[in-house]
Amino acid sequence: HNTPHAQTATLSNRSLVDLDRAHLIHPVTSFRGHEAHGARVLASGDGMWLTDIDGKRVIDAFAGLWCVNVGYGQESIVAAATEQMRKLPYATGYFHFGSEPTILLAEKLTALTPPGLDHVYFTLGGSDAVDSAIRYITHYFNAIGKPAKKQFVALDWGYHGSSSTGAGLTALPAFHRGFDLPRPWQHHIASPYPYRHPQGDDDAAVIASTVAALEAKVAELGAENVAAFCCEPIQGSGGVIVPPRGWLKALRECCDRLGILMLVDEVITGFGRTGPMFACDDEGVSPDFMTVAKGLTAGYAPMGAVFMADHVYQAIADSAPPELAVGHGFTYSGHPVSAAVALEVIRLYENGLLENGVRTGRAFAAHLDRIRAHPLVGDTRGRGMLGAIELVSNKATRAGFDPALDIGGRLGKLTWDNGVIVRCFANAVIGFAPALCCSEDEMAVIFERVETSLDQLLDMPDIR
Ligand code: PMP
Repeated sequence: HNTPHAQTATLSNRSLVDLDRAHLIHPVTSFRGHEAHGARVLASGDGMWLTDIDGKRVIDAFAGLWCVNVGYGQESIVAAATEQMRKLPYATGYFHFGSEPTILLAEKLTALTPPGLDHVYFTLGGSDAVDSAIRYITHYFNAIGKPAKKQFVALDWGYHGSSSTGAGLTALPAFHRGFDLPRPWQHHIASPYPYRHPQGDDDAAVIASTVAALEAKVAELGAENVAAFCCEPIQGSGGVIVPPRGWLKALRECCDRLGILMLVDEVITGFGRTGPMFACDDEGVSPDFMTVAKGLTAGYAPMGAVFMADHVYQAIADSAPPELAVGHGFTYSGHPVSAAVALEVIRLYENGLLENGVRTGRAFAAHLDRIRAHPLVGDTRGRGMLGAIELVSNKATRAGFDPALDIGGRLGKLTWDNGVIVRCFANAVIGFAPALCCSEDEMAVIFERVETSLDQLLDMPDIR
């Protein structure tokens, strides 16, 4: 009799799509919408390129989900994972156990991260990294005898994952609607969205407005009740919103003045996505907590991490006798195979990939500048290998599109048909996060195909 694997291999592509429809719940996707759309089933990848089960070849300008930062088909990562899986596929971190790759990774990462972030807890991805940070921050304020400090402040348009509490720090309506979020202790202030800010051309004014909004929110809640401010250095899932340079540093100083912790979520921006190893490095910022995932393993295995500043670690360490556990942990915290993958991925970043990302990032910026002249393009923005195009129905007024026109859905189809994967947000923003291995020629292919898609969108009678 057939093994399940052999059965799958003999299925026609059509029935794979039917099986998907019948049984698979897709992340962040409408159930009925997916039934109508059907799955695009991917089969293999190589460098910047993906091939689906019908043999269609597309260039991936979004690195999977802003994660495959080394590109597909990196054999040295396959070798590292295989070797670790053969030697020791699993070791718990409970009961004082450990494994070599996890320990070496902790040492490597804490050397790379901003000063003070000397301690790391490993998770399976970004959502549980943010969730772990929330739990540790809660534990910390109880430990130091300030149990009232439990309110969290985050930004409009922010994304901090999909855990049952973290999704309340996220400020995207789909993550709240029907999920009873945000919780009463989760608050949001205006995003530093330069294109949509009344003084968007004035960097100092944009920075000052976020600082003022945080001060006002903390004053309203009472500083004695506020635990932390949580932000991305560049807001990713909100539509690649790039604050002015100096913004993160100003917010760090503001948190210190207000006596609240700062959690910087580098799940997208980490590992060279914006140029330096971490976006915090650009501004010399050391947060109290920092979360990473995605680029950490470049999608080759699941892993995230939360870094904890030494002053927080020491306070928690001193707060209870050694026989009392700090009850936070997952079976797969610090998984040795994921850790072996991460060590090899970081070796690739340090041996040319970060540099290539900076080089191709300059070509990326030039393409973004050029495409700004297109009649549909209101704004372009980016840093390093992270960027976006925002489409508008009127360049002068910056008016967006009627949601009923489903610009995001149409662009998703047009770009796929033209052989390029980009992120098409509902609010007519096109997000780019190509792998750092992308060449200048491949970047030109991406923009050729995106521009063709924009022209085709412009030709639609109800868009003109
Ligand atoms: N934080 C940020 C800034 C993210 O972009 C994401 C994922 N897009 C997450 C957290 C959640 O990570 P994950 O999907 O790995 O749980």
